Amino acid sequence: MLKVGDVLKNIEAIDYSSEGLGVAKFEHYTLFISSLLKGEVGDVEILYFKGKDIAFAKTKKIHKFSPHRITPLCPIHSACGGCSFQTVTYEEELNIKRDKVKKDLLKIAHIDFEVKDVVGMKNYHHYRNKIEIPIKEDKRKKCLIYGLYRKNSHDIISFSHCLLAKECLEVALAKVVDILNNYRVKAYDEQRHDGFIRHLVLRANERDEMMLTIVTKDDNIPQLDKIVKDIVSNVPNIKSIVLNIQDKKSNVILGEKERLLFGDKYLSVQLLNNKYEVSSKSFLQVNYLMCEKLYTRAIELANLSKDDVVLDAYSGIGTIGLSVANKVKHVYGVEIVKDAIEDANMNVKINNIGNASYVCGDAREYMLNYRDIKFDVVFVDPPRKGLSSSFIDSLLKRKPKKIIYISCNPSTLARDLAILKDKYNIEAIEPFDMFPRTYHVETIVGLILKK
Ligand code: SAH
Repeated sequence: MLKVGDVLKNIEAIDYSSEGLGVAKFEHYTLFISSLLKGEVGDVEILYFKGKDIAFAKTKKIHKFSPHRITPLCPIHSACGGCSFQTVTYEEELNIKRDKVKKDLLKIAHIDFEVKDVVGMKNYHHYRNKIEIPIKEDKRKKCLIYGLYRKNSHDIISFSHCLLAKECLEVALAKVVDILNNYRVKAYDEQRHDGFIRHLVLRANERDEMMLTIVTKDDNIPQLDKIVKDIVSNVPNIKSIVLNIQDKKSNVILGEKERLLFGDKYLSVQLLNNKYEVSSKSFLQVNYLMCEKLYTRAIELANLSKDDVVLDAYSGIGTIGLSVANKVKHVYGVEIVKDAIEDANMNVKINNIGNASYVCGDAREYMLNYRDIKFDVVFVDPPRKGLSSSFIDSLLKRKPKKIIYISCNPSTLARDLAILKDKYNIEAIEPFDMFPRTYHVETIVGLILKK
């Protein structure tokens, strides 16, 4: 029986897990090992178990190195865990991601269909347009510190440069924390459930203009007016400051209540042919360049015509549907977050679109409530948990001639395709690297109704 702390010698990684860990077999155990690439042999230390047969381990020493191994550029990459592929060439990362999509489709859905090479980025760093940074108190220095969570914990590891974030965001972050420290603002204390600052959220548009959301436990931060003035005069390009109150004991970053402290309630973002206003609680793809590439390909695959009625399901602020409105008869959209739908309807107006209607609600209920609309083409872009089975049932009953499935999780994509494939033929499976250096991969699947 293995125990925590045991060191196993000469373990060979034979594959990658869906989170980019090395996978190895030892007796009846499956080991998931950090920092061991496929084909590498090393000594590994057992960290913890999941059930009787699965153990997580870290690499102590490598005896045989992979030709794809490179030296990581970030000093905290192994502690932070945000980047799973810092030690692998980018080319190999794209291969691993393609294999993952292929494997999930085969294993979960028995789909053996050509998965295209992953569309990657030329410059694959500093693409993230949004950062959500936890703030804590350094008890010794009596000041606020910021950082990234250590893997599987709530400890903070300080960083000054993150390879994924747009550079303007980390410059702004450092300045905002300095200013908060000048005013001796207290951080939120998880244990005592008191204090103020919990997170700082920064989102930038493609011109590096930014929205800052200060997430606080209580609304009454001392000298808040002065703090806001200082931020505005010292942090260039801050166009909006929002105070978000999260007074619950919760891991959810944003609370319900918000108050505008400075500037516009929205950040303006240009994507393809439209301008979008996005408010702090709305979802927006984190990588503009890849988002435009992905949308462009999804729209091509949809092969739209002037008579088509389109559904943009899981629409966020309407970016997919509104990009195609000028090509079709009507666009309907549904999204569960109220603020995102308010943004979507404003985006309909500011882009002078006369043929789009977005409503707030659960995608599944929407299908039941709007039974009379005949959709020709449906775009679905669900969160990681994929489509609900009743939403899929409704799709199968209503039989749109095309479904374009945009997925951020190959396993739930495979699960859903296993059902959809009875009535739909697969036309294309094309992964896009929306999140370079992390284990996440986005995939577009084009589906055509069988005759
Ligand atoms: N298509 C958009 C958003 C994709 S993210 C874009 O490209 O930007 C997925 C979206 O689904 C999120 O905005 C989330 O709020 C929404 N969502 C999650 N569960 C939902 C549900 N049950 N019904 C409708 N929308 C949902």
